[in-house]
Amino acid sequence: MAADHADVVVVGGGILGLATADALQTRLSGVSVVVLEKEDEVASHQTGRNSGVIHAGLYYVPGSLKAKLAVDGGHRMVEFCGEHGIAHDRCGKLVVATETDEIPQLAALAERARANAVPITQMGPEEARSYEPHVSCLAALHVASTGRADFVAVAQVLARRVVEAGGAVRNGTRAGRATPTPSGWRIDTGSTPVEASFLVGCAGLHADRVARASGERPEARILPFRGEYLDVVGPSADLIRGLVYPVPDPRFPFLGVHLTRGLDHRVHAGPNAVLALAREGYSWSDISARDLAGTAFWPGTARLLAKYWRPGFDELRRSLSHRRFVTSARRLVPDLNPADLRRAPAGVRAQAVDRRGALLDDFALIDGDRSLHLLNAPSPAATASLEIGALIANRVAKTIS
Ligand SMILES: Cc1cc2nc3c(=O)[nH]c(=O)nc-3n(C[C@H](O)[C@H](O)[C@H](O)COP(=O)(O)OP(=O)(O)OC[C@H]3O[C@@H](n4cnc5c(N)ncnc54)[C@H](O)[C@@H]3O)c2cc1C
Repeated sequence: MAADHADVVVVGGGILGLATADALQTRLSGVSVVVLEKEDEVASHQTGRNSGVIHAGLYYVPGSLKAKLAVDGGHRMVEFCGEHGIAHDRCGKLVVATETDEIPQLAALAERARANAVPITQMGPEEARSYEPHVSCLAALHVASTGRADFVAVAQVLARRVVEAGGAVRNGTRAGRATPTPSGWRIDTGSTPVEASFLVGCAGLHADRVARASGERPEARILPFRGEYLDVVGPSADLIRGLVYPVPDPRFPFLGVHLTRGLDHRVHAGPNAVLALAREGYSWSDISARDLAGTAFWPGTARLLAKYWRPGFDELRRSLSHRRFVTSARRLVPDLNPADLRRAPAGVRAQAVDRRGALLDDFALIDGDRSLHLLNAPSPAATASLEIGALIANRVAKTIS
């Protein structure tokens, strides 16, 4: 079958694949790029199902890719949204300690923020209530540079820029096996295949599979962690002005159930973190035998469950009990009325887990022969997307130019 030709093929039309394609076309004049996206629209998975927060960068290990790319990426994201008329702001957020044993953890978070050069203000309950009058806490951090952005609109603008610069975004096209050719790769698509000199994988929940389809043997597997949300409606919604976060459990990469008022003014509580029964398992009834087998037979899964059975069990109970979920949100704002909190659409995080059962903390890339796969890109990767795209594009440029 005749093939489409490009210099670079990018698998995945989420914010990271599109940011990479855009960065390639901006850096390398005349380069041809094709993005393959299996859904009919870009941004259908993680990019379109998240908290919409531009993270300031306070949580991440100093010197890590997450720390560097979140801080720089947040600035770039604000600039990009401004240039393209995309809804965004720097509304700031509060991180609140509600128990005495969280106070040292909050102090440690303040230290980390300083190490990452993220400006913060430490404060007591009264000052915290000048930002969020209904919050309950013993101590708090205010992070002024946290913001919000419409990440779906960002992805859509990036897709438009790719096409305007002469590239292609082929929605409804699933990338299958990638076979090496003398000049690069031939990627099966079920219709016209694509031949390209370089292959980039930005496939989110399928990142490890797309890497394996080109012959890589990633040392980690993607496990899907669903993040469920509740809509906060009625008088309870008026109790939250902006973003209110708990002190995160330092053992996990997840930030804990928080309260967020979005740019559309809707208020959400969430997300929790439960192992989903399918990679795109947005509810308990979404079950995939293939995905479940992949999770069950990965050696890291049993080790992960053995290590984290207690918090994992608590998360499961919170997922199954509306009362428990509401209790988590009411730790932050006790006046929330349970009747005002209703199930909302969920997202699923693509989290790489290694054979020892460790959750990969930092962003992780696999460098192949004329290929590069983004294996681990959880939060704050939407915030950092323009920087991650630039980093990948720079590496690709070294090979193809
Ligand atoms: C609940 C939740 C809350 C979050 N909150 C935040 C937040 O507030 N701030 C923040 O910065 N980050 C947040 N994140 C993280 C952020 O959403 C992700 O890191 C980011 O969207 C990842 O982008 P991506 O392009 O890698 O993945 P995705 O958006 O999932 O895109 C991957 C794409 O690849 C496509 N694909 C997969 N396999 C194939 C194939 N074989 N062929 C063709 N296409 C394929 C998929 O259809 C998908 O569209 C959150 C994530 C979740 C789930």
